[in-house]
Amino acid sequence: MPYCRRCGYKLPEDALFCPNCGAAVPPIPPESRFELADWGERIAAYFIDIIILGLIIVPIASIFLWPWTYLIGGFRWDWGMSAVFGLSNVFSFLYWTFMEGVYGQSLGKMALKIKVVRADGKPMDIVTAAIESLGKAFLLPIDFILGLILYPQKQQRLFNYISNTLVVKARR
Ligand SMILES: [Zn+2]
Repeated sequence: MPYCRRCGYKLPEDALFCPNCGAAVPPIPPESRFELADWGERIAAYFIDIIILGLIIVPIASIFLWPWTYLIGGFRWDWGMSAVFGLSNVFSFLYWTFMEGVYGQSLGKMALKIKVVRADGKPMDIVTAAIESLGKAFLLPIDFILGLILYPQKQQRLFNYISNTLVVKARR
């Protein structure tokens, strides 16, 4: 709970002015309002998402795609597998964009009680979530390793940095 810098009055959450003395309250950056999620929690949430997606997507994608690869050049396991994995990436991108754009949390993040927030304090939206999910769905190793090297203080993946988002512990 914040206190007024001028008079020490206990301020209500999200107050812009002190109700006691009227002093302006400086906006609080999200990284000090929230506690950053640990990489361990984020990686665990990622694997929960991947397992859920895998259980749903791989059977569906297989049913739809394998007949097509059969028509193209006879039954080809390698084509079939690449098509299924390609489609899985697209599905996981749409899944993360929707869940994190609308709820700020994928199912894995809900399980780990963490969420995505915008660093400017505004609510999450679909475009921000799409940018943030792009790296995770298609370029994860680069996205993650560059984030570790470039943005260790805020624990951002490269695409968290580009979309100006942070992953934080969700308070209840
Ligand atoms: Zn005051």
